[in-house]
Amino acid sequence: MTKLDTQTGHPGGPADRGDTLLDLPRTPAGSDLASLDARSISAWFGDHKVLDRVSLTMPAGQVTALIGPSGCGKSTFLRILNRMHELVPSASLAGEVLLDGRDLYAPARRITDARRQVGMVFQKPNPFPAMSIYDNVLAGLKLTGTRASRGTRDALVEETLTKAGLWKEVRDRLRQPGGALSGGQQQRLCIARSLAVRPRVLLMDEPCSALDPTSTRRIEETIAELAVEVTIVIVTHNMQQAARVSDQCAFFLAAQGTPGAIVEYGPTKSMFDNPQDQRTYDYVNGRFG
Ligand code: ADP
Ligand code: MG
Repeated sequence: MTKLDTQTGHPGGPADRGDTLLDLPRTPAGSDLASLDARSISAWFGDHKVLDRVSLTMPAGQVTALIGPSGCGKSTFLRILNRMHELVPSASLAGEVLLDGRDLYAPARRITDARRQVGMVFQKPNPFPAMSIYDNVLAGLKLTGTRASRGTRDALVEETLTKAGLWKEVRDRLRQPGGALSGGQQQRLCIARSLAVRPRVLLMDEPCSALDPTSTRRIEETIAELAVEVTIVIVTHNMQQAARVSDQCAFFLAAQGTPGAIVEYGPTKSMFDNPQDQRTYDYVNGRFG
């Protein structure tokens, strides 16, 4: 397969939706769900190939978990899904990513639009520490150049903090800095910030691995609630978490000296109870990784 220049990709489809950002009130939950389809994705850092022809459909309104040992390319795959991979100077990729059937890498689509529609929450909570909780939630709007009235902004802050399970804890101190919150609260603040730009997909890269068990539970509850309105893809090393939060699971593996690939994919229950591949069985039962 030839490497694609990620800046030019394929001939463009029709200009994508998403210009009307703050058309509040929102359409009813579930009416705007999008699927994400990765087709034959390969990825390189320089000459080092780290993913080999990975195809995965992430169905609309469901939670897909990516599992597998460190270094098998899960984070790289996730970053390809919202065009962050190309931020690394040596990085290249081949294959296609379709959001609701439309090419995420089409030249007609702006990168900022792709990243707005496919949001990302990282392992380490990364709010702007000196910025207020209120302004943190709205930070993404500034980046996308969206203007909104005070009333609209207030409503959006309350709505997204509520969805992120944080509103009751911070409603009386919205002007305090985001950095003053606990780690678990900061992560929920980052989820609210991601939701404020109305993403259609939310990517989460080990969002709980820096958190205590109670905060982890809160995030897991939040994920379950969000899945009715945003498609979720989560990387986790915690098999219990994958079993609790996901509808389907993809097991990534990079055998010694070879690029990462998906060994097995399917409904989470069958991946755990009745895996088809011995390597999946060994991994989900904690025998390696
Ligand atoms: P995982 O998330 O499954 O642990 P990653 O996607 O982070 O795996 O890494 C996959 C491979 O890509 C690893 O071999 C890693 O060393 C390499 N890699 C990741 N990021 C970079 C980078 N910025 N530059 C060079 N190599 C990288
Ligand atoms: Mg990773």
